[in-house]
Amino acid sequence: MSIEVQNISKKFAGFTALDNINLEIHSGELLALLGPSGCGKTTLLRIIAGLEKADSGKIIFDGQDSTDTHVSKRQIGFVFQHYALFRHMTVFDNIAFGLNVKPRKDRPSQEVIREKVMALLKMVQLDWLANAYPSQLSGGQRQRIALARSLAVEPQVLLLDEPFGALDAKVRKDLRRWLRDLHDEINLTSIFVTHDQEEALEVSDRVVVMNHGHIEQVGSPDEIYDTPASPFVTQFLGDVNLFHGRIQDKHFTSGDFRHEISQHSAHFSGAEAIAYIRPHDIEISLDATNALGHGQIEHIHSIGPIVRVEIARDSQDENIEVVLTKERFRTLGLMPGDNVYVKARKVAVFDPASV
Ligand code: ATP
Repeated sequence: MSIEVQNISKKFAGFTALDNINLEIHSGELLALLGPSGCGKTTLLRIIAGLEKADSGKIIFDGQDSTDTHVSKRQIGFVFQHYALFRHMTVFDNIAFGLNVKPRKDRPSQEVIREKVMALLKMVQLDWLANAYPSQLSGGQRQRIALARSLAVEPQVLLLDEPFGALDAKVRKDLRRWLRDLHDEINLTSIFVTHDQEEALEVSDRVVVMNHGHIEQVGSPDEIYDTPASPFVTQFLGDVNLFHGRIQDKHFTSGDFRHEISQHSAHFSGAEAIAYIRPHDIEISLDATNALGHGQIEHIHSIGPIVRVEIARDSQDENIEVVLTKERFRTLGLMPGDNVYVKARKVAVFDPASV
């Protein structure tokens, strides 16, 4: 099922939670809503679900205006951060619940329900836990059961609100890979809320980056990461170093450094520009040719396979952070106190007025 979000706005007591959101969700895709706490992700999800009413705008399911359709008629499955399993029911009964409460005329026979629940338990790879109670399950197992329960009523759309938010890092990682595989198997249209960049980039077909109630960028994980549309997206997706410079002849220039920019210089309101550069896109060098900056190595931290080097910039407060492979670090033979130049492999250049 495809979903269109058209001009959706929502205020809470004068506070704008969503400001004219427009978004198309393709049938069968896994879409991540990504953004910092309070940016409006959950509110948008709840409006799509029909759990919250927008002040204005429309929600279209498969070409049909469903803005006023009751939540129970939207054929949506939910999974929330905090496991919403019934504690007094076994895993089997939890999954069967949505089928057992259907009106008598729509309710499948107990035999069909049994087959269906067991098939779902196999799908989430927990069939051996059919008779367990939620208190006997781990957090990750509970979320897989919550997902099986949401799928029992055969929804057209699956909405997941930080489903793995309460789990520890290792379980989260396993579960998000598992969710991706499961999504590919059942091919439901799914929307996934997260504030975890890595999770969004790893799991989804497309990512919607939100900030203060509006959409900053929509794109594939690679597009979002490689060509961020705004300073916000660049900074939200990971650590960056900022270098101030100028726009000259379609190039960003700073000291001896020149970098051709893809955006036309007309995008810049003045001659000033800021380059955003990720720590692993910076190279350390002892030679000044085309260098972007210069400084003295202050700290060296070895973290597993990588080395993080902090360089105190000449005449500036903020340090430059560089990430090198251990091999590259050894080749360079760097020591704290060394005077070095930095060069950039890849930069994103923005107008200071857009920051
Ligand atoms: P988080 O990741 O922390 O859940 P979010 O991006 O999902 O954040 P929302 O829960 O959508 O953000 O909230 C957006 C804004 O709207 C927040 O500032 C929140 O305080 C406010 N808000 C949400 N629901 C209500 C409500 N029922 N009443 C008042 N304000 C609300």
